[in-house]
Amino acid sequence: MENDCMLQIDNLHVFYDNIHALKGISLKVKKGEIVSLIGANGAGKTTTLQSISGLIPSKKGVIQFENENITNFASHIICQKGIAQVPEGRRIFSKLLVKDNLKLGSFTVNDSPENLEKDRAKFYKTFPRMSERKNQMAGTLSGGEQQMLAMGRALMSRPKLLILDEPSMGLSPLFVKEIFNVIKKLKTEGVTILLVEQNAKMALSVADYAYVIETGKITIEGKARDLLNNPDVKKAYLGA
Ligand code: ATP
Repeated sequence: MENDCMLQIDNLHVFYDNIHALKGISLKVKKGEIVSLIGANGAGKTTTLQSISGLIPSKKGVIQFENENITNFASHIICQKGIAQVPEGRRIFSKLLVKDNLKLGSFTVNDSPENLEKDRAKFYKTFPRMSERKNQMAGTLSGGEQQMLAMGRALMSRPKLLILDEPSMGLSPLFVKEIFNVIKKLKTEGVTILLVEQNAKMALSVADYAYVIETGKITIEGKARDLLNNPDVKKAYLGA
């Protein structure tokens, strides 16, 4: 594994019973970069992310994080090692208050009430509209606010690698813009990001490097700005 590489996946195979969902995926995420994984519905994006987070077992292949083989580790151990995932569809705790959703996100680093408050304050600074909603039931938030909360909950574990699964799904253009601005800001703060998106244009415009996945295989990879100009990518994913 190269020195500047944070995550490396080699030849990953995942099955759902007899469905061969990932057919030898290999990818790298370098420290400090945003890497995007784009692809059509059912291509295997979520399966890739869930394998990294230990939510789906893999049959073959290796996942390394900071030079350690974490393949098929339990998800709470993977989280402790510094990987946090924001799942597709947010999955916030809708019956809990905003501030308590944040507290749950901090369980791996819950060292003191002062640090919990500090981390919450950082979240409210990143997402100012959430600070007046801290005592609101999370299920009553708008879709965009729920996405912000899901990102905040993940950030409360102070991750080295943040994994985002379709953060812009179902959001209004204004919220999409806001979420992508936050993604760019997180990068400047040193968070490494693996981003899965259907909104390929946005994903490629914030990413450093990107992969295209088709029916369980990586078919194209390269610098994100090169993929933005790649005729095959343009035709299939950028509506050209
Ligand atoms: P989407 O953008 O629609 O979320 P995706 O690229 O994330 O798609 P996956 O959800 O990873 O795709 O699905 C990859 C393949 O695995 C698909 O063929 C899907 O039908 C199949 N699959 C996913 N989850 C399951 C499951 N729980 N049981 C059986 N097959 C599954």
